[in-house]
Amino acid sequence: MVGFVIPSTPISLDHWKYSPGVNIYFLSHLHSDHSEGLRPSFRYGSIYCSSTTRRLLLERYQLDPSLVITINPGETRSVSLDDFDKEKLSVTAIDANHCPGSLMFLLEAYFGTVLYTGDFRYESGILDVNLLQNKIIDHIYLDNTYCHPKFQFPKRLIRQRPQQNCLK
Ligand SMILES: [Zn+2]
Repeated sequence: MVGFVIPSTPISLDHWKYSPGVNIYFLSHLHSDHSEGLRPSFRYGSIYCSSTTRRLLLERYQLDPSLVITINPGETRSVSLDDFDKEKLSVTAIDANHCPGSLMFLLEAYFGTVLYTGDFRYESGILDVNLLQNKIIDHIYLDNTYCHPKFQFPKRLIRQRPQQNCLK
């Protein structure tokens, strides 16, 4: 399992174990290491993911569709962090260039500015998006599994592949 809960917040990133007080979940993509523990009986809160991931998620887990909220690359949403609508979270989705529908999340709230990469594939220019311009990121949760010169991957010729490859 690769995800976690941001300490002292109701926010969970690719983490699917019940945690008291947590009710805002972000799913970067549907690979098994990022969805481990997610069950059809999930009722702990809302799940934010891309429209591609949502479609796959509902098909695979038969979740209540009202719990799964779409946020697509380039989109920013405001999410209430409490029952009184006083504390707000601004979340922006950024294409992770990993598998179809995969996202990075830029979170901005009282705890600062956090970038959660999930799995992403860095290529020149991928982070040159207006969404990150003039941002000071306080915390970055970076998946650097293959971030070593000994790993050489060919450049992608096609940016988005057919969705049937996404669940492998
Ligand atoms: Zn992955």
